[in-house]
Amino acid sequence: MNKKAHLQKQLLAWFDAHRRVMPWRAAKGKTPDPYHVWLSEIMLQQTTVAAVGPYFLKFVKKWPTVEKLAAAGLDDVLAAWAGLGYYARARNLHKCAGAVVKEFGGKFPDTEEDLIKLPGIGPYTAAAISSIAFNRPAVAVDGNVERVVSRFFAIEEPLPQSKDNIRAQAARLAKDNPRSSDFTQGFMELGATVCTPKKPKCASCPWQKSCAAHRLGIAEDLPRKARKKQKPVRYGRVFWIENKSGEFLIEKRAGKGLYEGLYQLPTTDWTNDAKARRKNHDKRLRFKRLGADVRHSFTHFDLLLEIWTARAGAAFKPGKARFVSAGDLENYALPSLMRKVVKMCLHSKTA
Ligand code: SF4
Repeated sequence: MNKKAHLQKQLLAWFDAHRRVMPWRAAKGKTPDPYHVWLSEIMLQQTTVAAVGPYFLKFVKKWPTVEKLAAAGLDDVLAAWAGLGYYARARNLHKCAGAVVKEFGGKFPDTEEDLIKLPGIGPYTAAAISSIAFNRPAVAVDGNVERVVSRFFAIEEPLPQSKDNIRAQAARLAKDNPRSSDFTQGFMELGATVCTPKKPKCASCPWQKSCAAHRLGIAEDLPRKARKKQKPVRYGRVFWIENKSGEFLIEKRAGKGLYEGLYQLPTTDWTNDAKARRKNHDKRLRFKRLGADVRHSFTHFDLLLEIWTARAGAAFKPGKARFVSAGDLENYALPSLMRKVVKMCLHSKTA
């Protein structure tokens, strides 16, 4: 047996013994459901396994097939997604379900070439679905695989420059493997549970004897990363406007871009100029500043919002906005940032 086949055998034996049970993962020896694989892969982009679990279960209960998801209203999908973040994923998820039904009769295509043409599916997700759901020889390199490969070959070049090299090495390890689905999942699982970012558990690793970083004692230092640029800060105000029934005002976010189609508490624009936030929502209302501000980190900027509160009298006209109670919120797609503000405002009333 050559070295690569031996490494594959070691990883598969380890995966067979240690695979975690996950709501979207087929039981050992069973065929995965492509709808479950796709849904979980989209949800797992930039989100942890622990956070995704309840959302995945909610989605498959509400929409057990891709046809049912395609037939759902976008507002319902966004409301069910609320809190998972990166809402373009939810809009693309809905579009993709529609495309699978319309163009492929409700059956996911099995090749990377066809999968990548669908909305919201990039090279990594196409490879993951093709390999995990259809056992095709595709190589899906996520952050876990990147870490394992960087260490196994002791790649010292920092990320992201080393990405092509890592991909090529991962492809070499995965080549000519009849159990592509299990190998891909095992590769990711090894990174998630054994070859962890801090304190890798090399003593429990099936590849310990062949691992260059372990031999050199530099496992925890890899992968090296190029230093990140500091993110800019944007500023603004967010408004808690409450009526005499204790309900508060929310509105659908207008325009394209961030949070498109989601609900929010009224806010000013978010700008780089700290002074520009000194503007209130409605001149007829008397606003008071809440003691605490809210901070939120987006991929490309950090946000600092002052929270201002006001009471709306009977004469106040909400226009296109609406008053809702805290109990109504599950029917609205309110992003985590806004949920944080609601929680802070409700808490300030009882404090
Ligand atoms: S031996 Fe250690 S560093 Fe090398 S792959 Fe295994 S867990 Fe990672």
